[in-house]
Amino acid sequence: MPLHRVCVFCGSSPGARPEYADAASAVGRLLATSGITLVYGGASIGLMGVLADATLQAGGRVIGVIPRALVDQEIAHAGLTELRVVETMHERKAEMADLSDGFLALPGGLGTLEELFEIWTWGNLGYHQKPCGLLNTSEYYTSLLKFVDDMVVEKFVRETQRGMLIVDRDAETLLRAMAEFRPPETRRLQPRDDL
Ligand code: AMP
Repeated sequence: MPLHRVCVFCGSSPGARPEYADAASAVGRLLATSGITLVYGGASIGLMGVLADATLQAGGRVIGVIPRALVDQEIAHAGLTELRVVETMHERKAEMADLSDGFLALPGGLGTLEELFEIWTWGNLGYHQKPCGLLNTSEYYTSLLKFVDDMVVEKFVRETQRGMLIVDRDAETLLRAMAEFRPPETRRLQPRDDL
C-alpha cells in the first residue's frame, strides 16, 4: 500500500549521540522527498523537533498532534503545516493513528516505547492493518529486540506477532518494506493455544 502519511514516534530528548539527530534529519528529508506527510507529536524539542524541521526544510508537509497540557511543556512547534491541539494523550494517539498509513519509531524514551508498543499491539489484534517500522539507529534497540526474541522463546509472543514489526538500520530500506507490508492472515483475535 502506498504511504501518504507516516506517523513517526521519537524522543523528546536529543539522546547522547549525534547519530540520533542525524537519523531524525535523514528521515525528515526522506519523507519530504518521497512526498509523504509527516504526522508526529507536534513538539519542537529533541529528536521530534529535529525531525519536523528537517521535513519542513526539505519542502515536506508536517501535521503535529499535541495535548493542550503539553503545548508549553514540549514547546509546540510554531512552523508546522498544521498543528492539532487535542485534550488528552489518548486523543493524541488515536488521532495520529487515524491520520496515518504507517508508523515508524526512531530512538526515544518511555513515551516513544509506549506509543510503539501500543500501535504494534493494536496491529496484532487486528484493530488496524498498517505497517509498524523500527529504525535501529546505532543499534539503540538491539537489546530490546533481543528481549522480544526471548519473549517468543518463552511463548508469550508469537513468531507472527514479532514478525509484524519491521526493523532496519536504513531508513530508505525500512520505508520501502513498510510500503510493501501485507498483514498476515493469522493476525486476528483468537485463542492463545497456538503459542
Ligand atoms: P519520550 O520518548 O519519552 O521522549 O517521549 C516522546 C513523546 O511521547 C513525547 O511527545 C511525549 O509527550 C510522548 N509521551 C510521553 N509519555 C507518554 C505516554 N505515557 N503515552 C503516550 N505518549 C507519551
